[in-house]
Amino acid sequence: MSLTQSLRILGRALRNYIIEKPLVVSFEVTHSCTCNCLHCVMGGIKEEKDLLEPAGYTALVSSLRPCVVQVSGGEPLLRPEVVDIVKAIKKYHNGLIHVILVTNGSLLNKENYAELKEAGVDRFFVSLDFPNEKHDEFRRHPGLYAHLHEIILRLAAESGYDDIALNSAITRLNLPYLIDLTNKAEEWGVSISYSTYGLFVRKIKTSLFTPKKTWKCYSSKYFIETRYIIFLFLIVIIPLIKQDCLWEDYVNGL
Ligand code: SF4
Repeated sequence: MSLTQSLRILGRALRNYIIEKPLVVSFEVTHSCTCNCLHCVMGGIKEEKDLLEPAGYTALVSSLRPCVVQVSGGEPLLRPEVVDIVKAIKKYHNGLIHVILVTNGSLLNKENYAELKEAGVDRFFVSLDFPNEKHDEFRRHPGLYAHLHEIILRLAAESGYDDIALNSAITRLNLPYLIDLTNKAEEWGVSISYSTYGLFVRKIKTSLFTPKKTWKCYSSKYFIETRYIIFLFLIVIIPLIKQDCLWEDYVNGL
């Protein structure tokens, strides 16, 4: 992406901020996945019906007008139409939109990388939680680490683009490996970003904090204030529901 294009996207970001439109939109194009990670509730292959067709993404993007779109899942490469979805997103505003593909990399190869790149993916985020075969245990996908080692090294060396980044979800289990993960990214010739699921985790065993530490945070003064607000909200809403009082009735009655 040229400097002019980047500046135009930045300009749109500023305008979206002012008119309260989203800067970033994330599309989960499938909930089916080739992995079954310990920290996720979306693992495994699922039968899915009525998924949004590529044209539907053009309509959504035209209405939301984001600056950045993230295509994720599940595993987005399981969608046979993923290339068309990226093209449909890029149709908006002459392609002036930054498209990120988030993948576990299990289905990534030289051919689909080139096709997606051609369709308009600006950056590929490939998940890596451990700098060795422990990654296979965590993702419950034997052979995944070896595949990533081979394909990422190859793409980074041959493609000539600097468009691949590793994405590591920080959990209690991989905390001791964070520096090694950075070294691994350097070895493979790509960059790295870290993310975390924070306190409101879905799987406590892999959360960043132990249950005891999580409770300590929940009972801190900020969380206590939040709980008061939720409590107040409930004591207003529950009586309204009990009286069958809908929001429209309430507004019409004003
Ligand atoms: S690869 Fe992603 S979507 Fe699939 S199970 Fe793991 S975290 Fe969930």
